[in-house]
Amino acid sequence: MSRVTLNQVCKQYGKNKPRVVKHFNLEIEDKEFVVFVGPSGCGKSTVLRMIAGLEDISEGEIYIGDVLVNELPPKDRDIAMVFQNYALYPNMSVYENIAFGLRLRKMPKHEIDIAVKRAARVLEIEAYLDRKPMQLSGGQRQRVALGRAIVRNPQLFLMDEPLSNLDAKLRAQMRSELIRLHKQLGVTTIYVTHDQTEAMTMATRVVVMKDGVIQQVDTPEEIYNNPANTFVAGFIGSPPMNFMDGILEEHGGRLEFRTNGFALEIPRRIAKAPAVDRLAGRSVTLGIRPEHVGVDDARDAGQGAVIRGSVIYSELMGADRFVHLDVRTPAPIVARTAPGRMLPAESPMSIVIDMQKALFFNPENGERLD
Ligand code: ADP
Repeated sequence: MSRVTLNQVCKQYGKNKPRVVKHFNLEIEDKEFVVFVGPSGCGKSTVLRMIAGLEDISEGEIYIGDVLVNELPPKDRDIAMVFQNYALYPNMSVYENIAFGLRLRKMPKHEIDIAVKRAARVLEIEAYLDRKPMQLSGGQRQRVALGRAIVRNPQLFLMDEPLSNLDAKLRAQMRSELIRLHKQLGVTTIYVTHDQTEAMTMATRVVVMKDGVIQQVDTPEEIYNNPANTFVAGFIGSPPMNFMDGILEEHGGRLEFRTNGFALEIPRRIAKAPAVDRLAGRSVTLGIRPEHVGVDDARDAGQGAVIRGSVIYSELMGADRFVHLDVRTPAPIVARTAPGRMLPAESPMSIVIDMQKALFFNPENGERLD
């Protein structure tokens, strides 16, 4: 069993220094692929390094399986780590690099040979076993680093931004290889990244962090569709969710979101109507994803609430076009549309908001309200 449990874990780098990880509580189940994601400096690596035993735990407890590991040295934790900078030995061949940890453990030579060759086959680097790291591409080097981790057959993989040094295409390819590898080996994996795409594509569960505090722990789908606060809503998704501040008001049985110059009616039949009803009369931040905003040059076309605005600019992103729109709110709003449309700057537009998909947040602390 390689469940990992963190109880009230805190970290301070020095006695009178602020906490950079605050009361971290998390249960990671056996065989999960959990991704810690958040902006640079939010404490992701620190948590990973505490699990690895490379940093002291200032407060709280960490268990791997049923074993309290707070005082256990890294070598006794049965984990393997993969870093961004590969950390390969330049003078050793690929074979020797992968075998190194096993030799240290005094594994018999023929068993090492079997383990190295099996890992090389899984990672498709059999043809490079005699080469030196210098003679490999970045992606191949990272595979060797992974090989070194998997031959140890650990109960836990810890990965700290392992793909950051690769170019975009190779990164995408290695993402799917890591998913395959995880399926094949079934080893519990904790993966740190600042890249929300990696989190969303690889994780069974995502842990979103900010300033050393967990913001939300959930599946990628739930994080995307049901963000707990404006930070999560804005951090996950590209381009980010649109936000508008306003008031929810009731007029003759109709519930509306009202902001400067326009009102958006909220349909009564939506599933969460009772939750939204309770918000009548209060200030809210409305959140709506770009794919739930449409544009049309004919008034009242499409489904949803319609406001008037104009195009600031639009950018073609392959299969999508992102249209930045001025609706006289402080920030422009962005719509995701089909790529073929020509939308010159300053064109007047009807902007259709699918209010069934709107989310409501507390403008004071960003917490989700509906
Ligand atoms: P992330 O991995 O999310 O980028 P880190 O865990 O590396 O964040 O860092 C969290 C905070 O702790 C940052 O403010 C960073 O400056 C600080 N920090 C990290 N390592 C050390 C260290 N060895 N000494 C002092 N402060 C550190």
